[in-house]
Amino acid sequence: MAQLSDDCFAFGGALMPVDEAVALIGARVSPVQGTQTVRLEEADHRVLAQPLFAPVPLPLFANSAVDGYAMRSADLPHDAPRAFPVSARVQAGSPAAPIAAGTSVRIFTGAPMPEGADTVFMQEDAELDEAGRVLLPIGLRPGANMRPAGEDIAQGALAIPAGVRLRPQHVGLAAALGLTELCVTRRIRVALFSTGNELVGPGSARAPAQLFDSNRYMLAALLRRLGCEVSDLGILRDDRAALAQGLQQAAATHDLVLTSGGVSTGEEDHVRASVEAAGSLVLWRMAIKPGRPVAMGVIAGTPFIGLPGNPVASFVTFAYVVRPVVLALAGARPEPLVALPVRADFAYKKKKGRREYVRASLKISPEGLHMADKFPREGAGLLSSLADTDGLIELGEDVERVAPGDSVGFLAYASLI
Ligand code: AMP
Ligand code: MG
Repeated sequence: MAQLSDDCFAFGGALMPVDEAVALIGARVSPVQGTQTVRLEEADHRVLAQPLFAPVPLPLFANSAVDGYAMRSADLPHDAPRAFPVSARVQAGSPAAPIAAGTSVRIFTGAPMPEGADTVFMQEDAELDEAGRVLLPIGLRPGANMRPAGEDIAQGALAIPAGVRLRPQHVGLAAALGLTELCVTRRIRVALFSTGNELVGPGSARAPAQLFDSNRYMLAALLRRLGCEVSDLGILRDDRAALAQGLQQAAATHDLVLTSGGVSTGEEDHVRASVEAAGSLVLWRMAIKPGRPVAMGVIAGTPFIGLPGNPVASFVTFAYVVRPVVLALAGARPEPLVALPVRADFAYKKKKGRREYVRASLKISPEGLHMADKFPREGAGLLSSLADTDGLIELGEDVERVAPGDSVGFLAYASLI
């Protein structure tokens, strides 16, 4: 079955709003088949294929949260401080004998609670008398400084739902549960091309009017961070037949075909026509700046995405089009990008009706507020503007101007992958 059905509209000249494009992707891209068992060391960035239920409780046993003195809450003094003899000592990793009534047990962080003890008095607060007894004040809460078995995750409870993109903290959780492997969906195989007669790979001889292909390297790095297996298929020339053939071949052996460049309406922009020749086009213009021309289609059942050539446009549209497609193919739950409010420290005018992303750096104002500085120049070809900023200010379709002090949404680059 096609992973992206192609029974919909031809989009005429209309610009599709970003949210509509993302919803379209969510509705039409279905996950690839196939799972794989990977060692924990390899699990970061992968998508969990089956829900993980805790085979053991966490913590595994009741233990002390601090260094101090364990006791029975039944013994806690109510009227006046009382001295407790220290009857035993238990350290992390050693078994504990049951506590004797009316005594305390010297205990250290992570050590098992002696049977019967349920409260720990912190060593920082403890005073010992000449006889070596702990002086216990009144007012200690029963159960204080003790971590009961299963308080984090009960045995049998859902520890990680299916579809979660595993992060270092999930890997740590799986290890804490004693697991050595996890079942994940297989890697998404992405065929990656650049298009354009002007491009040469870095390291190759360059003619005077040629430039080094940067998108392929940037996009491959982004894809790998999403857990993809990337086939770098080099540069396709601005030639309709060559493009159509390259795309068709790649589609046969990959889950996604991704290109950059050649999707505008210039005479030398052949990607759109090549996709129509090799398959069908679902969308080719989005109401987004930088970006606008973004082609999505299907070639022999395989999704195709053609990003704009300008590096900044390529980067921004990757986040809004490629990322959700890759996540959907990998069976991951949708991870909507959430822009967090900061104050603009700039003025800006924009056109109504399209989403705009402004490159910005964050700083803290003297009053302690997060403020965004706009990168001083706006060109969609300025790679330094991406390299020297912290993230994107998202300006919604309805916004027409931003004044200094306005609250605006900020997306850190780290959150885009
Ligand atoms: P296009 O979308 O093909 O019209 O390209 C728009 C601009 O992006 C042109 O200035 C291209 O030279 C540039 N460009 C296209 N592809 C790449 C690439 N892979 N790396 C760097 N710049 C590119
Ligand atoms: Mg081009």
